[in-house]
Amino acid sequence: MGFALLVLPCRSKIKYVLFPQVQTNFPALTLKSTIKSMSEEKLPFTGFSSVSIHGNQNKHPNSAHITPIYATSTFTFDTAQQGMERFDGQQEGYIYSRWGNPTFTDAEKVIEALECFNLKDSNGAPLQVKAILHASGQAAMTTMFMANLKPGDKILSHYSLYGGTQELMLKVLNQTGVETIIVDLRDLELTERTLKENPGIRIVHIETPANPTIQCVDIEEVTRIAKRYGTLVTVDNTFATPYLQQPFKYGVDFVFHSTTKFLNGHGTAIGGVLLGRDIEFMNTRATKWHRLLGGNSNPFDAFLLLQGMKTLEIRMDRHCSNAVETAAFLEKHPHVEKVNYTGLSSHPDFKTAQKQMNHPGAMLSFELKGGIESGKNFIDKLKMCVRAVSLGTVDTLISHPASMTHYGVAKEHREKYGITDGLIRMSVGIENLPDILNDLDQALSTT
Ligand SMILES: *Cc1c(COP(=O)(O)O)cnc(C)c1O
Repeated sequence: MGFALLVLPCRSKIKYVLFPQVQTNFPALTLKSTIKSMSEEKLPFTGFSSVSIHGNQNKHPNSAHITPIYATSTFTFDTAQQGMERFDGQQEGYIYSRWGNPTFTDAEKVIEALECFNLKDSNGAPLQVKAILHASGQAAMTTMFMANLKPGDKILSHYSLYGGTQELMLKVLNQTGVETIIVDLRDLELTERTLKENPGIRIVHIETPANPTIQCVDIEEVTRIAKRYGTLVTVDNTFATPYLQQPFKYGVDFVFHSTTKFLNGHGTAIGGVLLGRDIEFMNTRATKWHRLLGGNSNPFDAFLLLQGMKTLEIRMDRHCSNAVETAAFLEKHPHVEKVNYTGLSSHPDFKTAQKQMNHPGAMLSFELKGGIESGKNFIDKLKMCVRAVSLGTVDTLISHPASMTHYGVAKEHREKYGITDGLIRMSVGIENLPDILNDLDQALSTT
């Protein structure tokens, strides 16, 4: 029928470097999981998928196999005494769904287990962190910033950031008397100098890899410097997922995800999660702020997230291998000026990515020759890849920052951040590789 497999002459001579530790499983998985089995014994999970599939073993009514969608706003008390004890914290139990819900709990347990998998605390015991599920990545970030900052405090961050994060800092948090200082956190000397000169910095916020130039910040080095100045370190791990990068390994205080992206993986729900290593803080102040700010998740979205996470490992393996091949294909293409992918040795942060990630991941961007018109033409000619913002879904999503996400940003301002007129951002999906490459090739060759 109309399908023809494109023979790609470039594939044999591609010049890209695979990370030496590329593999489909985490190495040396010796740590016993902290998850209780039905018989309350610890299960020695040896791999990432087992954790994401069995990472919560809460029992549900009627022997339900899959976590039910607890579509209930409130929970009942048998007696006034029981109600009092739950409010008082003497008895565990749900009260009201803005405060917590069993479907949320199951999703939280899985994400905690994934972010801690194979990690130890400073005493050599399995690392424990606490997750709070939120309505969105933005809501999770708001809880974290509001619970930790007071007027006069400052945030230090990197200039390549998710747009919503940057706007939250510069338009909302500034109204609470919190100032944000943006520098290039890849410049460690500058990072240290900024911390020294600004004793009010309370949080160093890292997003790595970052949007849309796929820049990477060295989590270990920046955390080491930040800790000398007594500041908290927060990492947005959305692009990498815990499968590719576990920031708690480097002693960071908080990790975030927009679960909307790879964790859900199917583009069916908005969600976010905040994880913290200070369990006491998470159970008290962070919980309080989460409840009062009202950014709670909802049972249906939490259910969709739970389903999505079960296939995280196998999806990521396919996303990643497709991305490596796609980057190699694009780098050879005559209509492509430049490819930003941390799996290519030409990327300025190749070494940093190699150090802290298990694989360069599924996000890349590339510059077309011919500026804004060729960018728009290319996008319009795509036949299978989807024209959309967002990322991390099973299908390949392609966007054109100059005409979409960064349309309102002045040209000289965005170019300073590497967002040129011809820049195309790609979240490589898990379709069959030849179909992705065929689509790119036909759209590029007629551009
Ligand atoms: C999408 C995204 C966010 C915001 O998350 P929402 O779920 O849209 O609120 C934050 N950081 C990164 C890196 C993102 O990609």
